[in-house]
Amino acid sequence: MSVFSHREFDNHQQVAFFKDKKTGLKAIIAVHNTNLGQALGGCRMWPYATDEEALTDVLRLSRGMTYKSALANLKLGGGKAVIIGDPRSQKSDELLYAMGDFIEGLGGRYITAEDSGTSVPDILKMSQRTSYISGVDKASDHGGDPSPSTAYGVFVSLREAVTYKLGRANLQGLRVAIQGLGNVGYRLAEYLHEAGAELFVTDIVQANVDRAVGELNATAVAGDKIFALDVDVFAPCALGAAINDQTIDQLRATIVAGAANNQLATTDHGQLLHNRGVLYAPDYVVNAGGIIDVYYQRKMLSADYSAENYASDLSTKVEGIGTTLKEIFARSEAENLPTFVIADRVAEERFNSATNCWQPTRSNAPMATQSYSKSV
Ligand code: NAD
Repeated sequence: MSVFSHREFDNHQQVAFFKDKKTGLKAIIAVHNTNLGQALGGCRMWPYATDEEALTDVLRLSRGMTYKSALANLKLGGGKAVIIGDPRSQKSDELLYAMGDFIEGLGGRYITAEDSGTSVPDILKMSQRTSYISGVDKASDHGGDPSPSTAYGVFVSLREAVTYKLGRANLQGLRVAIQGLGNVGYRLAEYLHEAGAELFVTDIVQANVDRAVGELNATAVAGDKIFALDVDVFAPCALGAAINDQTIDQLRATIVAGAANNQLATTDHGQLLHNRGVLYAPDYVVNAGGIIDVYYQRKMLSADYSAENYASDLSTKVEGIGTTLKEIFARSEAENLPTFVIADRVAEERFNSATNCWQPTRSNAPMATQSYSKSV
């Protein structure tokens, strides 16, 4: 298995492998870039078929976090962790403690949070061995779950895209198709309903659809029919690759803005949307509300940062997603390049020009007794 020459390596600063014989823990932590600050990204637990598959995933995801945090204007770098194993059968307290030890060993370069296959209680177990955790805040009204902030960020983004593309700030009567009514999609639907939009919804879980029909006056749509609807906005809030060879020709919406990660099956699909005049709000800009929330939750661990500071900073920064999008839309039009290409450039400009590459704080003690500070 190659690492430095791996196709997803892309100048990662550090890739650490960890194996603990006693607990069976096999994990990889990838730190893509710390120019803007410590690398923060979730810890995924997944039964990868091969080590190669796990490495590919962690490299791709950690790079994505560098871009997402830079675009969200956070003083954060990008990193991610994967535990190779089935979260339903191979997770144990001991394994999570061992993962905490692994994270602690990186001295603060990487901060973890929940992701697919891990939960707030899992991160709390890791926190018995490391302070480099986030997304477990009990002071917020949602117990650390960043989904409400993600949903609000998607709403702000959608509103910005509508203003830019359709020249209207009012969402009254706007026709929006939402694919996926989970933690984020349902809250987005609530915001849109409140703003007067007309909703068309689909979900593989019928109860979610029934709830939206009952509570939000939404129109239920069967599965794949969601793509071809005559709507203003298509909001993918389920899985990745919603825009693919099968769906792209069906789309009638002039705006794509949703929460799902990796909405474009390939970059060619992003180019096609651009050529056709469809305004695509890049997913990793739109769905940054979650990482913003987790960032400020971590700040709350320090004594001088209150719940009031958290609420006000969070709302300012999530609203700021709209400002970044406006810049991306304008540059995309001026340079005649797809929005995702411009988004990448904006992120790269931000993290490449940063000089405060995060370093552990060293004491003045001689090397033999030197210790690292745990402060952020
Ligand atoms: P979720 O699992 O709560 O919701 C996903 C919903 O999509 C579920 O209700 C599921 O039944 C539905 N679904 C799955 N496949 C479907 C299909 N083929 N057609 C229609 N519906 C389908 O997840 P979530 O937390 O709401 O996240 C939604 C998306 O946003 C995911 O892609 C996630 O990676 C991304 N995202 C979430 C956050 C967050 O804070 N939760 C942050 C960033 C990105």
